Amino acid sequence: VPSVLAVDIGGTKIAAGVVRRDGTIVRGAVAPTDGGDGEELFANLVSLIEGLELAPADELVGCGIGCGGPMSAGGETVSPLNIPVWREFPLARRLAAAISLEVAIDNDAKALALGEWWRGAATGHRDFVAMVVSTGVGGGVVVDGRLLDGASGNAGHVGHVIVEPDGAECTCGALGCLEAEASGTAILRITGRPAQEATPELVERTGRLVGRGLGSVCTLLDVPLVVVAGSVALGFGDPFFAAAQAELDRVCRISFARGSRIVPAGLGSDGPLVGAAAVGWRGLGQEVWA
Ligand SMILES: [Zn+2]
Repeated sequence: VPSVLAVDIGGTKIAAGVVRRDGTIVRGAVAPTDGGDGEELFANLVSLIEGLELAPADELVGCGIGCGGPMSAGGETVSPLNIPVWREFPLARRLAAAISLEVAIDNDAKALALGEWWRGAATGHRDFVAMVVSTGVGGGVVVDGRLLDGASGNAGHVGHVIVEPDGAECTCGALGCLEAEASGTAILRITGRPAQEATPELVERTGRLVGRGLGSVCTLLDVPLVVVAGSVALGFGDPFFAAAQAELDRVCRISFARGSRIVPAGLGSDGPLVGAAAVGWRGLGQEVWA
């Protein structure tokens, strides 16, 4: 059965799996990201992949990687903010050489957008934004039935939409970015506690700021749907989504964008691997979600 090898590179864990053309994950494995230098991390990734015991029926036709940004244009090198041992690391090229497969790479939020389009909460839609609210805030944009790449491949960085003029300083250097005000890192900075321990007031504020940023996004792009994933958003649950929707309804008033909806992602913990697999299929020129 034609399948792709899916690889998700995150700040706390790396995951690999075999994903069929229908989006089914048939094998998967996870390892921690921590420990060692960049070469050791890469060696750990290769052994994680080699440990996936393929069934005779599995026919790997390519590989897709979802990785934290930033990355250079075309994904030639990656420098994930939360993986300091990889700076301008040529991940796709190195992995292609190690496993003898064609490798496509994209940032993890764009991968998530493809995954949600294929098998999640955006199935059948042609215009939507997918967004992650976890340690950081990221996103991917699908407009006119196409995932937007942008000039450097970084389209969709909704985490750096300004939601609080003169707000907190962001890792990007600006003040009041959504990521600086409404991410797990922001909550830790504000309260000294992890997001799981946030007060109802802080859950409401986080949702409100996400809704505020998305109001501008929905108006700018004419997208009626936003799919939100990530441990902070999904962990907060209904009160977060209610606050986000209420603020979007308040700020998003122009006729065509009014009524845009914010919904939880549909793939749950499968999202990163299904998304990475979608990146692989896209790299092979096969739009399996269409
Ligand atoms: Zn920023």
